[in-house]
Amino acid sequence: MTITEQSTETASVHHWIGGAAHESGSGRTAPVYDPARGVVTKHVALADDADVRAAIDAAQAAFPAWRDLSIARKQAIMFRFRELLNERRDELAEIITSEHGKVLSDAGGEIARGLEVVELATAFPNLLKGAFSENVSTGVDVFSVKQPLGVVGIISPFNFPAMVPLWFFPVAIAAGNTVVLKPSEKDPSAAMWMAELLKEAGLPDGVFNVLHGDKVAVDGLLTAPEVQALSFVGSTPIAQYIYETAAKHGKRVQALGGAKNHMLVLPDADLDLVADAAVNAGFGSAGERCMAVSVVLAIDSIADALIEKVQERVATLRIGDGRRGTDMGPLITGQHRDKVAGYIDIAEADGAKVVIDGRGIEVDGDADGFWLGPTLLDNVPTSSKAYQEEIFGPVLSVVRIKSFEEGVELINTGVFGNGTAIFTNDGGAARKFQNEIQVGMVGINVPIPVPVAYHSFGGWKQSLFGSAKAYGAAGFDFFTREKAITQRWLDPSHGGLNLGFPEN
Ligand code: NAD
Repeated sequence: MTITEQSTETASVHHWIGGAAHESGSGRTAPVYDPARGVVTKHVALADDADVRAAIDAAQAAFPAWRDLSIARKQAIMFRFRELLNERRDELAEIITSEHGKVLSDAGGEIARGLEVVELATAFPNLLKGAFSENVSTGVDVFSVKQPLGVVGIISPFNFPAMVPLWFFPVAIAAGNTVVLKPSEKDPSAAMWMAELLKEAGLPDGVFNVLHGDKVAVDGLLTAPEVQALSFVGSTPIAQYIYETAAKHGKRVQALGGAKNHMLVLPDADLDLVADAAVNAGFGSAGERCMAVSVVLAIDSIADALIEKVQERVATLRIGDGRRGTDMGPLITGQHRDKVAGYIDIAEADGAKVVIDGRGIEVDGDADGFWLGPTLLDNVPTSSKAYQEEIFGPVLSVVRIKSFEEGVELINTGVFGNGTAIFTNDGGAARKFQNEIQVGMVGINVPIPVPVAYHSFGGWKQSLFGSAKAYGAAGFDFFTREKAITQRWLDPSHGGLNLGFPEN
């Protein structure tokens, strides 16, 4: 059966508005694939302006009651959601794998990281406490409260269909906001599953809405006056567009963009551990992670030995359908697979050596899946587009360097600043690296240094537009605004005129 024939029999993914599925009137849809089989399994609605309005209206209508609901009741809902998500995580993992392609264990890992943020959000009363200063002047007190913003928009990428929304919405909701989530149109079902789970946990209708779509939906959220803040995660050009457009419309905005993460390997590092880390961080989730390692900066003297160890490990990997116990699944679409393969062509044409070639690989799965095997490139010129641009696939580039300083210089002159790692047993070198490197998240002998939920996630430079990181204390700051109140309870002794500032 061809894709076109199958598409007439596929399921539809609707919006989720006001606590129920909402059929779009737009007549526009996008195909959703099972990437391991290369077939369309669903069609997702693409919102028109009326759908955007319906989602924002539902969130706006739900806001006052949600804002004013007691802390105890809000907290009970967050705990219930945590319990349900934990109990039923395997269902969600299946959904993620069926639309994204990552292997089931990796989908489970994505949910575990998202759950951490839900757990953080259950502690919101502690994180939202204000401050109180008594007698700032005699009989005068000043106190501050953190209040929700109102309706907030979240726009998420395809590569973490559960975790990235979970970075934001538990915090936004716990802080008293109502949400319109616009997930990636490539894997929209995880968001719908979580919406139903939130309802089951007791969340009032309209507090969490899912709007599917493309630029029309995104532009609707960017320009609607009711939307107070936008959290975006995706590629750098779109992040920059979101940042500029949201700011122009007076909104609070955090826009996390792309990455090109380097791993610097010094000669004293344990090369077996480094090779394990490079393979895990380079090829996990087929390299479709914003914190994936894509460049290994190896000091010349150890480069050959490291490459050999990486080769040995890659030879043991099973590539195939993520539901069959494999190590690495397909890429998200055929188009993206071809784009990633194009970077291998570019690197080769620019003089890199293709040590392991993932093009045309045989897999444990359907031949029509969007496959590209793990690829290892050596001697990639730093002038090549394959070095400079984000590839977002299972391609690990080795760049040979002469010194620690050369490695730091390469990382610091790059346009991205999401993650980086150093592998060494030299504490002094690691400390110098941690101090001088111009990157937001740094690993010392840790290849993917994603901060835990009670810290905050975010890169530097073109990996994050705006100053607000995701989750942790920064997340609560982003989704609240502080109000400072100065109070005095008058008695007759306070009478009299004084047009100057009080002196004490
Ligand atoms: P993308 O930028 O194509 O899409 C992200 C979101 O923006 C999606 O919801 C999409 O529908 C929407 N969008 C796409 N084109 C748009 C347009 N022209 N106007 C308005 N909205 C638009 O990103 P993707 O391919 O889904 O995800 C991969 C990218 O996300 C990579 O660059 C990766 O590095 C990045 N990412 C970054 C982080 C981080 O924390 N910095 C985390 C995950 C992914």
